[in-house]
Amino acid sequence: MKRRRLLLRGGTLVSAQAAVRGDLLVEGETIAAAGRLAGIQADETVDASGLLVLPGAVDTHVHFSDDFMGTVSVHDYFRGTRAAVYGGVTTVIDFSNQQEGEPLLRTVERKWDEAAGRALVDWGVHPVITRPSLETLAGIPDIVAAGAPTVKCYLTYRKEGLMVGYDDLRAALTTLSRAGGMLLVHAEDNDALEENIPRLISGGFVQPIYHARSRPPDVETAAVRKAVEAARETGGRLFIVHLASADGLDLVAAARSEGVDVLAETCTHYLIFTDEMLEREDGIKWICSPPLRSAETRDRLWEGVRDGGISQVSSDDAAYSWKAKLMGAGRFDLCPNGIPGVEVRLPLLYSEGVVEGRMSLPRMVEVASTAPARLFGLAPRKGSLEPGADADIVLLDPKAEWIMGRETLHMGADWSAYEGIPVTGKILKVWSRGELIVDGENLVGQKGRGRYLRRILPPRGPSSALR
Ligand SMILES: [Zn+2]
Repeated sequence: MKRRRLLLRGGTLVSAQAAVRGDLLVEGETIAAAGRLAGIQADETVDASGLLVLPGAVDTHVHFSDDFMGTVSVHDYFRGTRAAVYGGVTTVIDFSNQQEGEPLLRTVERKWDEAAGRALVDWGVHPVITRPSLETLAGIPDIVAAGAPTVKCYLTYRKEGLMVGYDDLRAALTTLSRAGGMLLVHAEDNDALEENIPRLISGGFVQPIYHARSRPPDVETAAVRKAVEAARETGGRLFIVHLASADGLDLVAAARSEGVDVLAETCTHYLIFTDEMLEREDGIKWICSPPLRSAETRDRLWEGVRDGGISQVSSDDAAYSWKAKLMGAGRFDLCPNGIPGVEVRLPLLYSEGVVEGRMSLPRMVEVASTAPARLFGLAPRKGSLEPGADADIVLLDPKAEWIMGRETLHMGADWSAYEGIPVTGKILKVWSRGELIVDGENLVGQKGRGRYLRRILPPRGPSSALR
């Protein structure tokens, strides 16, 4: 059967290296050619002149149907991927927490069940080790073989049943690197938190701002330091998720220059907001962990995004309902930690990053698509517009202006942390494997069409340790 040909004519094709005027040819599910393509006959031609043609964004940090702090995130695989595609995200990697008595492979199998008939775009899984027994560690080769070689450990949330200790962290790093995997770490020091939180609560300091006061940058930096030392000792491969401390950023950079295999990401909200949001009456909206920081830290994180100290930007999408967030109305420590954000990441990286002069257009594509795809074992299939790659494409009008908020977004929670933000740049169309999924305001992709992605990490060494 002849494969359907789609031609995007005369747009600005953006890669992690350059932004150049050209045409893009799609055949079936993949990109066939890019550049000046004269005399091509296609089944459909889209005029992309004046528009940006971007590789679909890859978000490696989402929590779909996540059972946490007495609630479950409202983004299941349909509602979560629907919000994702409206935000130009054509690949997500979701966390799956190990349950009591469960072999690690089961964390992946459960997500196959959850995604079946629901996912709109392609997806992968990070198993989360919560019971670091020898049996659990023995299951690591199984999940690597199942295409889920990136495993997360939390260094806090003891009462929530998620925490592992520093010794367990070392053991996981060792076993994972032998099996070809990478360890993702939530770095906040639990001992400090378990001292700070009860002290503040019993002193009557219960408002949202004390969430940030209870987990200052030092609490994060201390855990980053221990995780980095564990990577140094074991020779393991480490990735710090949602980095939000300037000292932590310096520590990661210094360790990498000494040959430690460690990288870090930050998340949209640390680049957009400061802890001032927590002073508002509705401050619980911005309760997330690590917490929002000072304006100085925010600016330092932008610098890291620009200069490569930070390898990528993810959303840490955790969409709890307003009713659930209200559990923390009178006590910050009872508020489910998390902000819905899978849809806003690419528009804000463009508007606040590129338009505001904080980074170049190619660097935006790198931190939103190319680096996440490469670092998490999805390249060359995802994250670029190179011939042979999946035709995951975003068409963006760089001049259009709109106001971000619940009225204009499609996320599943009944509230938004991103209300009233003026945005330059609007996503017009999104394709996933050559198929049009979003056409303006219309969702035209079929529920359940998304496929599980079997991932294999790139070889280790200087090329993987550097951006
Ligand atoms: Zn997270």
